[in-house]
Amino acid sequence: MLNIEKNILKNIDISKYSSFKTGGKADLFFYADTTEKLKSILSYTAQKDIPIFIVGGGTNILFSDRGLRGMLIVNATSEINLLDDNYITCSSGIKIEKLMSFCLKNSLSGAEFLTGLPGTIGGAIYGNAGANGSEISNLIENVELFSKDKDFFTLDSWGMSFSYRNSVLKANEISKIIAISAKLKLKTGNIFEIKDKMKKSMVGRVKNHPSKLIKSCGCFFKNPSQLFNGEKISAGKLLDMFGAKNMRVGNACVSKKHCNFLINEANCSSSDIFELAKKLKSIVFDNTGIVLENEVRIISDEPPFLSLKL
Ligand SMILES: Cc1cc2nc3c(=O)[nH]c(=O)nc-3n(C[C@H](O)[C@H](O)[C@H](O)COP(=O)(O)OP(=O)(O)OC[C@H]3O[C@@H](n4cnc5c(N)ncnc54)[C@H](O)[C@@H]3O)c2cc1C
Repeated sequence: MLNIEKNILKNIDISKYSSFKTGGKADLFFYADTTEKLKSILSYTAQKDIPIFIVGGGTNILFSDRGLRGMLIVNATSEINLLDDNYITCSSGIKIEKLMSFCLKNSLSGAEFLTGLPGTIGGAIYGNAGANGSEISNLIENVELFSKDKDFFTLDSWGMSFSYRNSVLKANEISKIIAISAKLKLKTGNIFEIKDKMKKSMVGRVKNHPSKLIKSCGCFFKNPSQLFNGEKISAGKLLDMFGAKNMRVGNACVSKKHCNFLINEANCSSSDIFELAKKLKSIVFDNTGIVLENEVRIISDEPPFLSLKL
């Protein structure tokens, strides 16, 4: 095992590790930029019984203003390899952007729908991220995982129990299953066609989403499965219908371009975002009876860092 103790930091501001740029301090902090370091810190914290929370890009997480009473592990691993038959393996901390460049360079097709998705493969696997009618689960052959009880183990796509914005990792918050690496199945493609599909995905994003530069975690709520007036309507449209566009709490506001995007306009607190989300959930419920569920994970500051409900 690496001597990782010397790299464990104390009392670190974690706001920069969430795209909302809010949150307090973590008691302990570790930056894992290689898979070896990630594996070592997971084994170490399991042995010492230190509560952990992992983030990748932090693009789908709202930290508490009170921070974390345990260790924040930032997964900055970035290994990627091409195998035979168009399989690739990548570490869970690899940025989707880097995965896209790798696919383009090697003329691999199938992942273009992920173009422009912020964050890491690990975060995308956790929430079965998707866009344009496809989900990351469609590409997954298997995932190497770690949990305190099972140590290191591998699950195939079926074992990962993927469903809409869900996976075994998200469904079992208490067991703290961490994705270490993933094997993805792609197809041989034509580089010009791949480039074209990527461009189309990106154009759709730029047209429909607020700028990447704003402090936001993308869509705050999942699209509801319940119908409204016999129709399936997105959370963003429902929010727009009932006047969300002009709502705010402190410096947390709703994007004028996409009502499902909540924005930290000027150094708001996590609790401002939380209160605004609560108000939005209420207006939709009061007008439609539909209960919106949050897609962004709001985590408690206390171990085992469970998701908070609005
Ligand atoms: C502008 C914008 C646009 C977006 N568009 C989309 C979209 O089109 N579709 C979509 O699905 N999402 C979208 N999102 C949300 C977000 O980008 C995705 O959910 C992304 O996959 C999250 O990855 P991340 O690495 O940032 O996860 P993080 O925010 O770092 O973490 C999210 C959750 O995953 C867990 N996690 C992270 N890494 C691991 C790991 N290795 N093992 C176990 N658990 C882990 C964390 O503990 C946390 O609970 C958007 C966000 C933004 C800001």
